[in-house]
Amino acid sequence: MASASGRDADVAIIGAGFAGLAAARSLAVAGAEPLVLEARERVGGRTLNVEIGEGKVVEMGGQWIGPTQERIAALAREVGVETFRTHTEGANLLRLDGRLRRYSGTIPRLNPLALLDVARALRKLNRLAEGIDREAPWLDRDAARLDRISLGAWIDRTLMSATAKRLIRVAGRTIWGAEPEEMSLLHTAFYVRSAGSFELLTDVEGGAQQDRFIGGSQEVATRVAAELGQRVRLGAPVSRIAHGPEGVIVDAGGDRVRARRAIVALPPPLTAAIEFDPGLPPSRRQLAQRMPPGWLVKMVAVYDEPFWRADGLSGEALNEEGPVTMTFDNSPPDGSPGALVGFVGGRDARAFAGLGKSERRRTALACFESLFGPQARAAERYLEQDWAAERWSGGGPVCNFATGGWTASGPALREPVGAIHWAGAETATRWCGYIDGAVSSGERAAAEALAAL
Ligand SMILES: Cc1cc2nc3c(=O)[nH]c(=O)nc-3n(C[C@H](O)[C@H](O)[C@H](O)COP(=O)(O)OP(=O)(O)OC[C@H]3O[C@@H](n4cnc5c(N)ncnc54)[C@H](O)[C@@H]3O)c2cc1C
Repeated sequence: MASASGRDADVAIIGAGFAGLAAARSLAVAGAEPLVLEARERVGGRTLNVEIGEGKVVEMGGQWIGPTQERIAALAREVGVETFRTHTEGANLLRLDGRLRRYSGTIPRLNPLALLDVARALRKLNRLAEGIDREAPWLDRDAARLDRISLGAWIDRTLMSATAKRLIRVAGRTIWGAEPEEMSLLHTAFYVRSAGSFELLTDVEGGAQQDRFIGGSQEVATRVAAELGQRVRLGAPVSRIAHGPEGVIVDAGGDRVRARRAIVALPPPLTAAIEFDPGLPPSRRQLAQRMPPGWLVKMVAVYDEPFWRADGLSGEALNEEGPVTMTFDNSPPDGSPGALVGFVGGRDARAFAGLGKSERRRTALACFESLFGPQARAAERYLEQDWAAERWSGGGPVCNFATGGWTASGPALREPVGAIHWAGAETATRWCGYIDGAVSSGERAAAEALAAL
């Protein structure tokens, strides 16, 4: 309903993922009137809780939170969602070169040359990242050179051991949902810089997988949306944004919303499905094509109990053979029922998604069995989410700049276009691609819009 000023809101926000919700909350706290327009019939975007009985949930999208992720930690605290430690007790598993190894701590017992090779490459990548300006990677003295080569080419050039090369490739498939050839080295260095180090991205203890939310990550979004009440409209896919000096008119599923500013809080490629009038500058339009989403399928197998714990295993595994290349213990805080989570990413996800439903289940559980023994095959429930099949996500966990992307389109990533501001995990300068980055990007876009009101 339009107000006397002829407006429905001060700021129309497109997307009720963590970025859009954090933007709306910041605006509301500052006394402005936000209105969030969300295509789906739920909030939370790339986070998704699924109930497994007795009020317990497993998460099919983003779930972990780790040290230095201060914006999501603050938001969760403010809406009363607590965290608990990811289960890590016991030995981890590594299947590499056809051998399954058990190991404790963070470093597996591998051929020492391969280990040295990995350590040297990661040191090099961290050093590369340290030099990158998080706000403007394209201004790096070496930006043109780093953006010209892919992570894949760098791996081939930098590492000597074939085993070490494969190890880094496998890890990358879950971190980015992409093959290293699909990503620019400058993007990789920026991404590592935005997190702090490669180890912060990959570690459980002390890293991005350290903690989980009691009640699941989506619960934080659900509570923020509950606070916002009528200021969140579900089932409102935005198809057109007309904009000018007076503000914006947003068409959303049969509704027309007038506001002074807009915040578009979507994965960048999805902005291409919206008609802008007048059209976006070419540099912003091209951005949508230069940042393809990763492809990540996440699966959770639920068991009576976490039987692997009794075998002295933590549930964490890296499995080069795939297609499930990474697993973790994903049981609720009290360890009942048991849950194992797995990921299939990059080229494996493309092949996996082509299988029939029962074949995918069989394949995934066979992978779990090959790691954790025959009990793993007898899952009580098998849940799966292919994020590339989701119209309103397009892929996951994150969209990544391909070679040449940062230098060609980087400056357009956050630059407002008239009354339109940009948010979303991909626009974050800290923890880009993570829930924390989504929250900080929403808060940053809200501050921009407030300053302009
Ligand atoms: C499998 C998987 C695992 C992950 N693991 C982790 C993890 O453990 N920890 C972590 O921090 N991060 C993780 N991530 C990443 C994290 O989930 C995302 O970075 C974050 O949720 C993105 O939030 P966002 O608000 O930027 O975007 P989104 O969550 O994508 O929100 C965008 C919203 O816009 C809506 N929308 C789209 N188009 C329109 C339209 N035209 N009109 C209106 N609404 C529209 C969508 O429905 C969606 O709700 C993971 C992601 C995936 C997929």
